[in-house]
Amino acid sequence: MKVAVIGGGIVGLAAAAGLARAGAAVEVFERSPREAAPGAGISLFPNSRKAMKELGLLEAYDRLPHGPAASTRTAMRRPDGSIALSFPSWARPGVRMFHRAALRGFLLEACRSIPIHWGTSVRVLDDGGADRAAVLAAPDGSRSSWDLVVAADGLRSATRGFLGMDPGLRYAGYTAWRGVTNAPADTAGTAGEDWGSGQRFGTVPLADGRVYWFAVASRPEGHSAGSTGFASEKDAAAHEFAAWYPQARALIAGTSESEVLRHDLYHLATPLQAFHRGRVALAGDAAHAMTPDLGQGAGCGLEDAAALTALLRSAPEGDVDVVGLLGRYSRLRTPKAARLLRASRLMGRLAQRRRPRWDRFRPA
Ligand SMILES: Cc1cc2nc3c(=O)[nH]c(=O)nc-3n(C[C@H](O)[C@H](O)[C@H](O)COP(=O)(O)OP(=O)(O)OC[C@H]3O[C@@H](n4cnc5c(N)ncnc54)[C@H](O)[C@@H]3O)c2cc1C
Repeated sequence: MKVAVIGGGIVGLAAAAGLARAGAAVEVFERSPREAAPGAGISLFPNSRKAMKELGLLEAYDRLPHGPAASTRTAMRRPDGSIALSFPSWARPGVRMFHRAALRGFLLEACRSIPIHWGTSVRVLDDGGADRAAVLAAPDGSRSSWDLVVAADGLRSATRGFLGMDPGLRYAGYTAWRGVTNAPADTAGTAGEDWGSGQRFGTVPLADGRVYWFAVASRPEGHSAGSTGFASEKDAAAHEFAAWYPQARALIAGTSESEVLRHDLYHLATPLQAFHRGRVALAGDAAHAMTPDLGQGAGCGLEDAAALTALLRSAPEGDVDVVGLLGRYSRLRTPKAARLLRASRLMGRLAQRRRPRWDRFRPA
């Protein structure tokens, strides 16, 4: 069984690793070069750990150093630093925070025997059918045939458009800066997300003591540091959160300019009714791009990879009915992904609300 994976992000690499372990001959096509920067931090929850088990990666995943330490308390602070809510500890099984470079390194190691064609953008020419292979085209004009194509080509998936399934993207109304401090930083033994008025700040200690932070602000679409008169995104984030408590400002200050990322946040306008057509399956953000408000985008994509792996593993030996298998994949995955997409959006709306009288909620 020949499988092509479009996209070497978290979900594409996870799908490749799982499907190869289920016996497929897998190749990955990634348009970026291998050395492309993987981004800041990421939180994965127990559903990701369950997916790792299905992918055959659990043992290695459990050995991967992660934050935060078991003693770290969960806290939600107000912009002045006072604690609004606090929970005893992060010591919940399966809740893990990683630098994205570490997670990517782990997935690349899991794919070490799989050919990865870096710097190669491919597109679907034919999605195939019961008696017809799927066909991919490369920029040099070459074509290749596949029993199954997994398109994990991200938020702006061209494959989703090719399959005629694209409902379009909707801007959520807020933008996010992210960074990882250059050196270990103090978080007063806490991790969590703080809600201000149209602003949020998140603090996530990593395994090596450095801290992944994110800073979210309600803004019109398409603003950048340049268009708003700042020399860098670090300066823009520092200005936006200048009135926040000292630790939040120190985390931004302790991060290199080049390490501060900014992204406007988008989600699919409506959830997809199916994640496949013919022999092509959508997975990850290509299938269910959601806002990061529940920290479930990658987790839900890992579940897609696990579902494809489980379906292939349980398929009868020999001539696999790929079109039937993908029908089951769509039926399995679309309801939960739709729920998460809607719930993330709802959480984002609630979290970004303007709270001019936030101080009134301070305990006496
Ligand atoms: C601010 C922010 C914070 C987040 N925090 C979390 C979190 O804490 N937890 C969580 O679970 N999720 C989080 N997410 C969501 C998560 O980052 C994404 O859901 C996840 O990275 C999607 O992975 P993917 O592999 O589907 O897509 P991507 O990572 O976008 O990968 C797609 C890949 O496909 C490649 N590609 C595209 N087109 C082609 C082509 N034609 N040919 C070859 N290659 C192609 C791209 O170069 C890219 O490498 C967050 C997102 C944001 C924006």
